[in-house]
Amino acid sequence: MAILFDIIRNSYVDGPGIRTTVFFKGCNLSCAWCHNPESQSGKPQIMFYSNKCIGCGTCKKKCPHGLEACELCGTCSLYCPTDARQLCGKEYTVEEVMKEILKDRSFYDASGGGVTFSGGECMLQIDFLEELLKACKQNGIHTAVDTAGHVPYEYFERILPYTDLFLYDVKCMDSTRHRQYTSVGNERILENLKQLLQTDRPVWVRIPVIPTVNDSVKEMTEIRAFFETYGKPEKIELLPYHAMGEHKYAAIGKKAHVFIAPDEENLNQLRDIFS
Ligand code: SF4
Ligand code: SF4
Repeated sequence: MAILFDIIRNSYVDGPGIRTTVFFKGCNLSCAWCHNPESQSGKPQIMFYSNKCIGCGTCKKKCPHGLEACELCGTCSLYCPTDARQLCGKEYTVEEVMKEILKDRSFYDASGGGVTFSGGECMLQIDFLEELLKACKQNGIHTAVDTAGHVPYEYFERILPYTDLFLYDVKCMDSTRHRQYTSVGNERILENLKQLLQTDRPVWVRIPVIPTVNDSVKEMTEIRAFFETYGKPEKIELLPYHAMGEHKYAAIGKKAHVFIAPDEENLNQLRDIFS
């Protein structure tokens, strides 16, 4: 069993073709710009959207434990008429996830797509991930693993035979700044990436562009120099910061760290560094 917080079908942004993306709950980084803050805790949690609440009191009436002593049973979310209360995170078996994945098999075949395992950090639940990847390969489905890379390299070795593509996040080259904004240094992440680039597996590097953190020519030039030294990924994508996850922070009782979105002119300048 593993805890997932979403399974999205018809994704065009998580690898080639039309994909199903499976989101694992739990992450060992906490990036200040994370647009899925509900992915960070490895446990289920109730999300409460106060702007949707009509004050009907149904949640209170239906809760078997009392709202203040929540045991995450999810009953309130089932009865809430406006989806103001939502249970985020649910246990799945490999068979349950495969059933969802196989629904769109014809779309994968027609578009060159497949399945992407993401998160959170999907590699933290490595046993389950390995089983799922094997099951996909047994069914002839293209597989991608989206990771921040802060795990033992042995985990990569375990899944390499069943993974067709890695989507790998790189944030910044300075470890102190990396720790300041993500809660961990980047030594292990970069060391794993060096090793992964030496394998025969394609790697698409994804760089979130966050103003005041890494949106400078100097930063991107340093990242480019890393690849010139240790091996070139198949693709490098710059992902501009957006504030679309801001409302989710309030829903889980956290305060969002808001940045200003990067402007197109600067983004183009940064993209040119990798072209
Ligand atoms: S998840 Fe269950 S225990 Fe928690 S508030 Fe809702 S109904 Fe009550
Ligand atoms: S059931 Fe939903 S809409 Fe009604 S009070 Fe509870 S959270 Fe608000």
